[in-house]
Amino acid sequence: MSWPLSPELLAPLAPWFERVRRDLAWRARDLDAPHPDPYAVLVSELMLQQTQVATVVPYFDRWLARFPDAATLAEADDDAVLKAWEGLGYYRRARFLKAAAASVAAEGWPGDLGGLARLPGLGPYTAAAVGAIAFQWPTPALDGNAFRVLARLLLIEGDPKAPAADLRTWLVPALQALGPSRLTQALMELGATVCAPIPACGTCPLADRCAARLNGRTGDIPPVAKRAKPKASALWLVAFEAQGQFLLLTPAAKGLLAGLWRWPTFDAADQTPATDPGPITAWPGWTQVYTHRREAVSPLHIPVEAPFTPVEGLRWVPRAELQGLPLGKRDQRLRDLLGTPGQSPLEAPDPADLVRACAAPSP
Ligand code: SF4
Repeated sequence: MSWPLSPELLAPLAPWFERVRRDLAWRARDLDAPHPDPYAVLVSELMLQQTQVATVVPYFDRWLARFPDAATLAEADDDAVLKAWEGLGYYRRARFLKAAAASVAAEGWPGDLGGLARLPGLGPYTAAAVGAIAFQWPTPALDGNAFRVLARLLLIEGDPKAPAADLRTWLVPALQALGPSRLTQALMELGATVCAPIPACGTCPLADRCAARLNGRTGDIPPVAKRAKPKASALWLVAFEAQGQFLLLTPAAKGLLAGLWRWPTFDAADQTPATDPGPITAWPGWTQVYTHRREAVSPLHIPVEAPFTPVEGLRWVPRAELQGLPLGKRDQRLRDLLGTPGQSPLEAPDPADLVRACAAPSP
């Protein structure tokens, strides 16, 4: 690759970052020294995966107050950890963070990039980011934002991840010259705030040397990846209540939703409409958007006379315990609606059918 030398090309990022850097709780003041609290860097990097800075800020503060160090987190109860993560989404990150903290508490911090990458939940990007920001290692951390900036700066045609190994090698001298923590965070900041998908080249410190800008190519570099259309579904999300207890799905041990309690759901296309909704309460529905699917959610409260014996995987939970359980975003929303005024639904599934689907067959 005949790219210009990285220290010269990226040099304007250092003074620019000094000027614009936000004062974030996980950012060290001194960007030339190792971070005083690598655990804080680890927490912030895992929280920032897939989540915006503004959302992370209050979660980070509460998390550090509750779990101030790796040992405290390692010993915390799983439910308490997921509860503290509630609302951030992608709950696997919380479980990984706890497992990584357990490893650090037991064995100390790894001494190299390979060791960091072996911590649970740290892919190559997060391991490199923690290496650079926490320990000042010249480990190039390339996420989607950084790939976009470098693709434009160097006029890389096609998928900028294709030359990822070359880009990492190219970046190392700049990390050494400008400071690993400083340059890593400056690149992240530039990609997040200036060289966004629609770039603000007028305020960019690299505008005078950016090959995409000089060639009028900022609109098509990097090419926009085509996304598969998310699958659409419609479901009833149901809070059955009997004598002060609610019926919930117990948490799965594995998978994306491991550790989270959920309300039972019923595919709207499969249900027979109720002729008389009786005491059912409904609230306005919403669309829940996930990476690969969209759910049209219709929340219902269905009172039943007495708790029935549920099928395996469902459990009656006393009302007083409901607030303390970790729920995903969709399910929190129904919990928050309970006790607020709803209305009798114009359309609802037959509650007897839903109860039959949840009740264990009589012996
Ligand atoms: S000049 Fe524009 S396209 Fe180039 S790096 Fe800066 S913001 Fe991105």
